[in-house]
Amino acid sequence: MAHTHRPESEIALRVKAIESLLVEKGIVDPMTLDTIIDAYEHQIGPHNGARIVAKAWVDADYKQRLLADGTSAIAELGLTGFSSEHMVVVGNTPQVHNLIVCTLCSCYPWAILGLPPTWYKSFAYRARAVIEPRKVLQEFGLAIPDEVEIRVWDSNADLRYLVLPERPQGTEGMSEAALASLVTRNAMIGTAKVQPPEPPFTLAA
Ligand code: FE
Repeated sequence: MAHTHRPESEIALRVKAIESLLVEKGIVDPMTLDTIIDAYEHQIGPHNGARIVAKAWVDADYKQRLLADGTSAIAELGLTGFSSEHMVVVGNTPQVHNLIVCTLCSCYPWAILGLPPTWYKSFAYRARAVIEPRKVLQEFGLAIPDEVEIRVWDSNADLRYLVLPERPQGTEGMSEAALASLVTRNAMIGTAKVQPPEPPFTLAA
């Protein structure tokens, strides 16, 4: 049977070669690399943000603390130690929709959302999110009615924002973990809303 050559195998080989070289030259410790890779794969990512959102949905006191002091309310969930920047959580309501951008570069709450999506770092998003947020959101498939105010928050090195999306209808009685599974990265940036769960499949009577 012919040996199949997949394009990513070449990239993997190159990464392996670079890693071997760095380890051989004593520049990096292989254990350190494993720790970093594990952190990005399992520890850092939007599931952390989703946990925060779900907790705020089921616990009104927590929500209040979260909106008042994001950094310490997030620390209550054990999410600390990534960096020293302050977290500000902005809550969506039927009257206000919040959107996050970094107009200068790509500041992002990566400790709780993982790595930023490519579009977040793009010049087009950074420039247009402030000038014409409604139009940008439309391009994300999110139509915000004219009567709803859009607030755009410009992140920087010291201050990172997180959107607390609205809890969707039809989620009454769902567990915190089930609620967290509905929360997407984009909903926490403000380019999407959290969608209600798919209705369970039932046979028509
Ligand atoms: Fe930035």
